Parts: sequence; C-alpha cells; structure tokens
Amino acid sequence: MKFNVVVVGAGPGGSMAAKTAAEAGLDVVMLEKRQEIGDPIRCAEGVGKRDLCDIVKPDPQWIAAEVKGFRVYAPNGTSLVMSEDKGGAEVGYVLERKIFDRALAMNAASAGAKVMVKTRALGLLHKDGVPCGVSAMRMGEPIQIEAPLIIGADGVESKVGRWAGIDTTLKPKDIHCCAQFLVQDSSIDDEYCEFFFGNELAPGGYVWAFPKGEKLANVGIGVQGSKSGSGEPIRLLKKFMKSRFPNGKVVEMVAGGDPSSGVIESATADGVMLVGDAAHQTDPLTGGGILNAMKAGIIAGEVTVKAVSAGNFRKAGLKEYENRWRADLGKHIARSYEYKEFFVKLRDNDFNQLFSSLKNEDISNVDLRGVLRVLFKLNPKLLWELRHLVV
Ligand SMILES: Cc1cc2nc3c(=O)[nH]c(=O)nc-3n(C[C@H](O)[C@H](O)[C@H](O)COP(=O)(O)OP(=O)(O)OC[C@H]3O[C@@H](n4cnc5c(N)ncnc54)[C@H](O)[C@@H]3O)c2cc1C
Repeated sequence: MKFNVVVVGAGPGGSMAAKTAAEAGLDVVMLEKRQEIGDPIRCAEGVGKRDLCDIVKPDPQWIAAEVKGFRVYAPNGTSLVMSEDKGGAEVGYVLERKIFDRALAMNAASAGAKVMVKTRALGLLHKDGVPCGVSAMRMGEPIQIEAPLIIGADGVESKVGRWAGIDTTLKPKDIHCCAQFLVQDSSIDDEYCEFFFGNELAPGGYVWAFPKGEKLANVGIGVQGSKSGSGEPIRLLKKFMKSRFPNGKVVEMVAGGDPSSGVIESATADGVMLVGDAAHQTDPLTGGGILNAMKAGIIAGEVTVKAVSAGNFRKAGLKEYENRWRADLGKHIARSYEYKEFFVKLRDNDFNQLFSSLKNEDISNVDLRGVLRVLFKLNPKLLWELRHLVV
C-alpha cells in the first residue's frame, strides 16, 4: 500500500489533516486503532461557537447543547457569570463528540481519504534512515503502509513522536489527570457551563459541569499531575458529586490525561509532523484542545501538499508547519502557560479575594482578557507577576 501521506489517529486533528490533503488530490490514508471513531470519548466536549464556525460549518447533529455562558465558582462559593461570546474558545457549544469526530472523519473520506479503523500503527518504516511509512496491525493482520510523510495525530499518548525521535515527554506538573462522569440530575443547569475552583476540590486544576441538555452533563475534574496520587481524580470527583449532585446518576465514566505544557520544542522530524495533543497543542490553562487540533491539522494538511509537490519531506522542508502553528496557536499557548503557572500557585484565599474584588464591577461587556485587566487593577499586589501579560 502506497500513499502520499499516512495520518495516524482519527481525532479532530487527524481528520482535518486528512481532509485538507485529500481535497488537494493527494493519496491519503488515515489509521484509527479503535473500531469506532469517537468512542470512547475523553472530553468535556466544550467549544467556542465563533471559533468552531471559523473552521467548519456546524451540523446541528453535532451539538448536544448550546449554552448562554459560563459560571465560575471561587472556593468560598462566590460566583462570576460570563456570556458565551466573551468566554473564549471552550464555551458556547457542548458537542456530541461521538457524532462530531465521526462526521469529521467522514468528511475526510468524502474528500478522498482512505480511512482504516481497527488499525493500530506499531512503528515507523525507514529507508536510508528516513521514515517512509508505518507498520500497523489491521484487524489482527500485520500490514505495511508506505508514505514519505507521516502525520502523528495520535493524541496525548502519542507514539509517532517518540518513534521519530521527538521529545514528547510531559513533566507531571504539565499534565492534568482527568476523570469525568456523564451525570443525569434534575439540578443540572442546562444553560451554563460551570467551573469550580479550590485547592481541596481540585489541586492545581478545577471541576467542570458542562450541560448536554435534558438534565445531563459532563461532570469532570482535572488535577495537576504533580499534585495527583493514583486514583485521586476519581476520589475527588466522587466527593464533589456527593456535595453538589448527591442524587446524580452516573451513566458513563472516562479517565484520561490532558497536556498542560508550554510550547513543544519541535513538532517535526524528517518525514513526520505532529498535530493536536500529540504536539501538546492544548491550551494549558483551560485544557481545551479540540479547535487547536483542528487548526493544526489544517496547517499540516496544507504543508503536506507543498511538501509533496516539492518532493522535500525533510525536517527543513516541513519548516512552514512549525512556523505557521507557532505564529498562531503557539503564541496563545505560551501566554496561557504563564497564566497557568501563576494560577496553580494561588491559595484558596487568593481566589476568594479575586472573586470578591469584582463584586461591584460591571463586567457584563468585558471579555476574559478584559476581566483580567480589571482584576489586575483591583489586585495589583496579588497579580503583579502577570503585569507583562495584562497590560
Ligand atoms: C477529560 C478531558 C476533558 C476535555 N475537555 C475538553 C473540552 O471541553 N474542550 C476542548 O476543546 N478540549 C477538551 N479536552 C481536550 C481534547 O479532548 C483534546 O485536545 C482533543 O481530543 C485533541 O484532538 P487530537 O485529534 O489531537 O487527539 P485525539 O482526539 O486524542 O485523537 C487521537 C486519536 O488517535 C488514535 N490513536 C492513538 N494511537 C494510535 C495508533 N497507534 N494507531 C492508530 N490510531 C491511534 C486514538 O484512538 C484517537 O482516536 C479534554 C480532554 C480530557 C482528557
């Protein structure tokens, strides 16, 4: 089997890369180790409306719920509400990713990409020391797929990066250990995504409740890896459930890691580009990575087209991918990382102070950056470390 490019992983990043390259007429194959694309899903499924619409036209079937905004709770219970259009890239729609991921893969297939499910990439093939394809196991049968370019869109546990010699290790402080329940409960707020902060509640992270309509919600927790013992996220999530949704019925459960690192040193090697979680392109502050993976996938697909036409698959020939994703997503990730590094150090009292300082402020027409500016003005001493980001 010979292709121009093999994409490993059919998440949002892989499917957008495969679609973009196939639309340009390339021979594309996308491998997915699971038998069903999009299942199980390890995600709270929140995305910003405007940001999603900038990338694809949403199909109503993908949307589980449309929310008015989000509510954030300080450890002492003080809350702050923001409307979805001011809320950034993770609030607006709560997706049904089982349908969404499959639809994106189907779009790639419609554009001409071959999609192989139940096909796990096992390693890279090499010619003269340069990657030239992957070996894989397809429904129990070993296969070899030749391609001068491999796009590793294989998620947070990416192996493609490691096989290509790219350092993808994450320090414990730069990964969030997550657990999530799909919860049915009459007290779920169907109109707002909710975030809960507190060092006892979720050390170095937060708890979320993202409504999916009809009193169903993704209720999850992310705990900073360096502060999380084994089984800690589940234990803390159960504790939260007891206090917030004591009668909630858990109908599904998932656990997984979310990268919260700064910008990866390199997302390319000879013949290889990494996309999405595989390249740590998640927002380190919020943990949101769906849209970033899609954006990076599109860039990787476009650079693939140029590389095939130039016949240059060396790392230097893939430089445009590095330049473009760093100029766009990379800048945002670097900034968010500084915020994350600061916020994980805050004590509960600091959070309480920040929230209560907004008590008499009208922030209804202010976006997240604007709120930070107001917070800085009101709490210069506490937020002094962030002055270069806020002004
Ligand atoms: C609990 C949790 C909650 C989250 N909530 C949000 C949220 O609300 N909003 C948001 O924007 N982001 C959220 N994220 C992050 C988001 O899920 C990821 O950033 C996003 O899925 C990344 O997309 P991707 O295409 O890079 O990787 P993935 O979606 O992880 O897809 C990778 C694919 O590669 C496949 N694969 C892996 N190895 C191989 C192999 N060897 N061969 C073949 N296939 C392989 C996997 O099966 C998978 O389908 C959350 C993450 C977690 C853990």
